[in-house]
Amino acid sequence: MQIKIDRSKVIFKDYSPNQILLLPPSLEEMIDPNHPVRIVNQVVDSLDLDNLIKKYKGGGTSSYHPKMMLKVIVFGYLSNIYSCRKIAQALHRDIYFMWLSAMSYPDHNTLNRFRSERLNGVLKEIFSQVVMLLVDSGVISMNEIFLDGTKIEANANRYTFVWAKSIKTNKEKIKKQIKELWAYAESVAKEELENNEPEGFEKIDEQQVRKTIETIDKALKGKEVNKQVKAKLSKVRKKWPEILKRYEQQEELLEGRNSYSKTDPDATFFRMKEDHLGNGQLKPAYNVQISTENQFIVGYTEHQLAADTTTLKEHMESLRQQYDKLPQAVITDSGYGSEENYEYLENNYVEAYVKYNYFHKEQSKKWKEDPYRADNLIYNQDEDYYLCPQGKKLIFNGEVKRTNDNGYEQAIRVYQSQGCNGCLVKNLCYKAKGDRRIEINRKLLEYKRKARERLTSEKGIEYRRRRPVDVEAVFGIIKQNKNYRKFLTRGLEKTQIELGLIAFSHNLSKLATKN
Ligand code: SF4
Repeated sequence: MQIKIDRSKVIFKDYSPNQILLLPPSLEEMIDPNHPVRIVNQVVDSLDLDNLIKKYKGGGTSSYHPKMMLKVIVFGYLSNIYSCRKIAQALHRDIYFMWLSAMSYPDHNTLNRFRSERLNGVLKEIFSQVVMLLVDSGVISMNEIFLDGTKIEANANRYTFVWAKSIKTNKEKIKKQIKELWAYAESVAKEELENNEPEGFEKIDEQQVRKTIETIDKALKGKEVNKQVKAKLSKVRKKWPEILKRYEQQEELLEGRNSYSKTDPDATFFRMKEDHLGNGQLKPAYNVQISTENQFIVGYTEHQLAADTTTLKEHMESLRQQYDKLPQAVITDSGYGSEENYEYLENNYVEAYVKYNYFHKEQSKKWKEDPYRADNLIYNQDEDYYLCPQGKKLIFNGEVKRTNDNGYEQAIRVYQSQGCNGCLVKNLCYKAKGDRRIEINRKLLEYKRKARERLTSEKGIEYRRRRPVDVEAVFGIIKQNKNYRKFLTRGLEKTQIELGLIAFSHNLSKLATKN
């Protein structure tokens, strides 16, 4: 049976796309009074952009107003639009962008140049003004900051790496072979080579290899030379100086790092948390550090070494430069608990709520009651020795100095037992051969004691509770909600601008949800 539909009852709303309006619509009226775009507009309007304006040389054709350009780019970042090409498109399609730009349409090249050239060197100062606005409005105090880091992938090819280790290994091989060639030459032309020996083969570089090969060539001239050696010499003459020159340039770019990417030499290969294939592949990335308060970002820095320990001083100094002062307290996880960092914070009167390795472990009963742990051995201060559970003395055996990657020197006191041979509990006590030896860093132990006292105080427990909610959550917002996991530009300078824009837009977006 067929059901009949009575179409006479269907009514459509009026649709006249070609209707001409008597008055043009006002964009202003179409924008919600509480939309975040209004916060961007209001905040950027209140900033002093003198330093940015100074970057315009004047003359030539007129430029788009920097205030408008900044608003548009910050709003792009706030709306998860990071590509200048897409921002340029939005300026034609999106009423919020149109309203911000007052219907001007800078193209993607102009936007890109503004981001990477005009904002270079001035964005952090502009960002600091935003943070000071937050302080003035009582949203944050800047008295306490939560500091943490994450790795953000660089815009670089994952397979174009240069490893410091392979340069070192290859140079060693060249060194070995050049020594062998020299030895052969000596066996054939000892007299000619006398007084011509290079100044050792330890430091090997382009010039030295070139000179050594020339000397060998001269010495072997007219002599009967083994065919294989001849072929080797010819290969060496052609290739090694070039290879060593390349290694020198690469070592310069490495600047003490273990690796870099050929497509972005500022990026270093790191193990990333985001490892979807689960194969532990290293990726070119930057170590991004942020400090937050109430989930607002107050400081950001970018680093090329993986360890967070090495970043704290630089980050704090960046804060000092931005605000002419340091916060009263800094709260971090155990990645920052080093002697150097504790010393820096104490010397600068910053309370360190900084965990150290084993902070959680040492709270356990097992740890506290382990009689063999160096920290649990009885110490005799008057006579400067430790007493082991078997009543044997570990006496002072000298002090060693250790220097870390930053050049910071640590003093380690070494104590050694006078006879562990035949001890029945040796297996429980330590694994190494010989008598037990312990290394004690007095200064670090004292810093740890103070940190422990703070971290286990009422305030410290509260800070520890807040830390993941404060700073770690911000990384969650940036990576998950804002889907920002990879830089678009290359090089430290440009990626730092991107990071600054992420921080800037994050703060405004947070402010918008607060209002
Ligand atoms: S191994 Fe040596 S240090 Fe350890 S408990 Fe025995 S005697 Fe003492």
